[in-house]
Amino acid sequence: MLPAPIVTLLQLYPSIPDLLSILQRWSDRSADDAEQELKEHLASRIFFLLLSDIETAPNFTAACRRIESRLGLSANTAEQLTEELSIIASRLRTLSSVRASGLSDLPYTVRRKLLDRQAHRCVVCGWHFRNQALHNRQPQHASPTLDHIVPYRIGGDGLSNLRIICGLCNAVKGDRMHIGERGRVWSDNFIFLHNLKVVAFWAMVRDGRCEVGGCAATPEQTRLFVSRRLGKGQFVIDNCITRCELHASADVIDY
Ligand SMILES: [Zn+2]
Ligand SMILES: [Zn+2]
Repeated sequence: MLPAPIVTLLQLYPSIPDLLSILQRWSDRSADDAEQELKEHLASRIFFLLLSDIETAPNFTAACRRIESRLGLSANTAEQLTEELSIIASRLRTLSSVRASGLSDLPYTVRRKLLDRQAHRCVVCGWHFRNQALHNRQPQHASPTLDHIVPYRIGGDGLSNLRIICGLCNAVKGDRMHIGERGRVWSDNFIFLHNLKVVAFWAMVRDGRCEVGGCAATPEQTRLFVSRRLGKGQFVIDNCITRCELHASADVIDY
């Protein structure tokens, strides 16, 4: 139901050219400017309508279907558009909220997109989030958490700075950025941390994949473990090597 003054206006000026001419007179602009302004206004209304479709959809597929049926697009185009809109929606939320500190701060579609991109595994250690067996992990170390690749205060909240890692990797990483060759962890200040989980974490970050032979299995494919290069000496970062599930031996940090 439209408000009464609008109804009266529509009765007085029933056609689009009539409405445009009155808009032009009221706003003191040229006919072209008035038309342009109206189009932009309508476009932004449609844009926000589509955004709310994305934000309220229960999952990515449902969001695609809505966009597809609303705009009569092909499935492919609808998916691309949904992806773009999801990214915009998350940026808008970032602007209005101070920071995305947890996974629940991201729209479902973005969260889903990130997890799909990583095949539902931690990008550092390869822990599978759908894995029911906990091995020796605490439940809070097995669940997905949001990570800022570069700490939030430096890297911000853009999607390119976000990824999903497991609770264990998140607990170990904290606010640290980089580790030196002898196991020193850099952040604001120079801090030396030496425990097996920290060393394993940074070895996996450094190697990024299984280092045995030509294997190169990634965390998207398998769980990663860390062992000593020569099977002897200390577990310090320059004596550590990352191995996949297949190539892991008994001499590993079961991360
Ligand atoms: Zn992990
Ligand atoms: Zn391997």
